[in-house]
Amino acid sequence: MQKELTKTLVFQLDIDEGDPLLLSEAFLESRRAFNETLRLDREGRDWGEIEDTVAKDANLVQNTAQQVVSKAQDALENYYDNDDWGMPWYHHDEFPLPMNYGEGYNLFLKDNGTVRFRISAKPYKQVKGELRGSPDQFNRLKTAMTDDGWRVGTAEAMQKNGRFELHVTVTYEQATVRSKTESDTVVGVDINEDCVALAAFTDDTIEDSVVIDFPEIKEERHRFFTMRKRMQKHGQTAFNDQYRDKEQRFVHDQLHKVSRLVVEWSQRFDRPVIVFEDLKGMRDDIEYGTRMNRRLHSLPFTKLRDFISYKSAWTGIPSDDVEPAYTSQRCPRTECRHTTRGNRHKKRFKCQLCGFQDHSDRKAAVCVVQEWFKKQHENVPALNTLPQVRKWELRRQASGPVDGPTVTQHTDRGHHADGVAGVSD
Ligand SMILES: [Zn+2]
Repeated sequence: MQKELTKTLVFQLDIDEGDPLLLSEAFLESRRAFNETLRLDREGRDWGEIEDTVAKDANLVQNTAQQVVSKAQDALENYYDNDDWGMPWYHHDEFPLPMNYGEGYNLFLKDNGTVRFRISAKPYKQVKGELRGSPDQFNRLKTAMTDDGWRVGTAEAMQKNGRFELHVTVTYEQATVRSKTESDTVVGVDINEDCVALAAFTDDTIEDSVVIDFPEIKEERHRFFTMRKRMQKHGQTAFNDQYRDKEQRFVHDQLHKVSRLVVEWSQRFDRPVIVFEDLKGMRDDIEYGTRMNRRLHSLPFTKLRDFISYKSAWTGIPSDDVEPAYTSQRCPRTECRHTTRGNRHKKRFKCQLCGFQDHSDRKAAVCVVQEWFKKQHENVPALNTLPQVRKWELRRQASGPVDGPTVTQHTDRGHHADGVAGVSD
């Protein structure tokens, strides 16, 4: 199967031709065009008309201006579709400059191995210089510039911590992902708002399982949600986008780390396929008291699933979906399969018919695997023994920044069924 994959590479800009102030002015102009799009939308103007007016008036390269307008319209559309983050606010902070390759910006590979850039900050006004970055980022960029199958895409110029940066997207057009039916190991994934549980099976043998806890995502989302509401109530809209960006960055960052752990863990096994529940709506078997709970759950779920299948595809690992079908309520023992809401009490699963007990999310991951075997018309693994539940926890270091997670491991004891006792690994 062929799949298209995109990555963002980050470089610093070492400007040696043209006035760096031109770039700063372009950021301001880009922000103005973004905010103007939001403002005209609030006035109820037609989107086609907004696009024409704003893009024409902006003192930017034409398709750069168009990209800014579509960014603002994407934000609005996102809001009108699901109201997940609230109405988009006017930007007061630095705003990036989006550009098309070969138009708003260009890159030149030099004989000595360096890469020169040219950015059209304004029509006919350019800044030029050399890219700086890690060898890893340069290798990827050079591959994208020279190899068939790769292409360089849009980029964003921005200012971060007083330095100019260029974020370049590169796309690999033909990553080969193995067919999911040619898999030897099935990794079932159960995503929750505070953890993800994984269970790997080869035919009817459980190879391993783990629960990765990420309690801070839920905590942070609650905190930001409350803060945002309070600020909105007091009309402090200026701070709002900063908090929202901070929250999004934090959640994004944490979910990336979790997804990396999931893919690394899956790579331990022979020819794995990663299987998710296909949750179009919300799970039918969890009580959602409030709309807020639904929101809190839905974001990690879809984002994490996207990150995992994306990262696994880079390593050639396929992913698949199964129908949810009460995976969290059903007893996983093939001779029992008793399904009732009462089987589950938060993180503890206890079958009311046969007495089977387990960590409820690990068990749900096992049920996902069983569903997958069923979908392939293969024998559903009979559960005679399950290993002890191993747990990893993703946390920030107390004093450190967001990108210093600690993964701690421990084994959760005392969750074993009578007669189906766990075997320690
Ligand atoms: Zn049972």
